Amino acid sequence: MKDRIHNFNAGPAALPLPVLEEIKDSFLNFNGSGMSITEVSHRSKWFDDVINDAIERTHRLLNLNDQYKVLFLQGGASMQFCMIPLNFLSDGRSADYVNTGTWSTKAIKEAQLQNKPVKVVASSEDKNFSYIPNVIPFNSDAVYAHLTSNNTIKGTQYAFLPDTGNVPLVIDMSSDIMSRPLDMSHIGMIYAGAQKNIGPAGVCMVIIRQDLLDLVPAHIPTMLSYKTFADKNSMYNTPPCFGIYTIQLVLKWLEETIGGLEKMDARNREKATLLYDFIDNSGFYKATAAIGSRSLMNVTFRLPDETLEKAFIAKAVENDLGGLKGHRSVGGCRASIYNATAVTAITDLISFMKEFEQQSG
Ligand SMILES: *Cc1c(COP(=O)(O)O)cnc(C)c1O
Repeated sequence: MKDRIHNFNAGPAALPLPVLEEIKDSFLNFNGSGMSITEVSHRSKWFDDVINDAIERTHRLLNLNDQYKVLFLQGGASMQFCMIPLNFLSDGRSADYVNTGTWSTKAIKEAQLQNKPVKVVASSEDKNFSYIPNVIPFNSDAVYAHLTSNNTIKGTQYAFLPDTGNVPLVIDMSSDIMSRPLDMSHIGMIYAGAQKNIGPAGVCMVIIRQDLLDLVPAHIPTMLSYKTFADKNSMYNTPPCFGIYTIQLVLKWLEETIGGLEKMDARNREKATLLYDFIDNSGFYKATAAIGSRSLMNVTFRLPDETLEKAFIAKAVENDLGGLKGHRSVGGCRASIYNATAVTAITDLISFMKEFEQQSG
């Protein structure tokens, strides 16, 4: 059997090897239960311990105060695009949205589909979403301000979250949650499909400040109401147990092996700097995101032409470097270098890129 490769997939994406090993080792007999975690009841003590530990670790890692609730939902980050306006925009007031790419555009569209009043207060569409707007005229009477902290497809990321005063930020952090420490002072809600940086597909983490729950109208479908999940510790119905368990193990790895989000951030910066510096100095590869807006998670780049890009991606796979193809909507190349990606994966990638350049440049 083939050994494990360096996996640069955008999502589902690489998970920490110790996490995968722990899942494997306890898969047939979870915690002395004589059952797999995929077989135990979600009403059992075994699963209660898992979900509560995941919640406590989230609180510790992000330094959350007791105003925040940690929830686990299904439907991916895409379901949140629909739930956010449905839950928070019921009284005719409007919300601000910043459009920085594909996922922001979809979030805006889901609000508009419901005829909710939204204002797009800034957009980087004029330059093909290659940058993050740095002056954003937020409205002080908005119910919330929505943004995408890391743009997985375009390879841009907010270096700092904007100050929205009293307006709560609602942030799609699917591809950078738990990658760096967070200043929670303006944040009302964070959501993240787990499959980029914290777990497998099938579960979406939502961190919500309790005062936002007061906005939720009574007459919306039960399964689309944040209140349902907040009142029942995410177990109104059967939750995505395996996904929550994997998240718990990833968070344990972050706390106990990595040593917290400051350490994770330092390592992520080291990785991204290595790769961007190499690309900037090469003259053959070209980064697509504007300096100052570059993502530490998804490094997007081009080669001199599309034929070379195709050859590059194919040759990379032969060298056990997978997932370097850019999103189908933009083409080019992308290395997703989330938390689980080791520094050695980056140095191996750079060695390969040097070699490919020498052979083709
Ligand atoms: C992948 C992604 C999504 C979509 O996530 P799903 O869980 O597939 O719905 C939304 N936003 C961002 C920033 C993403 O990277």
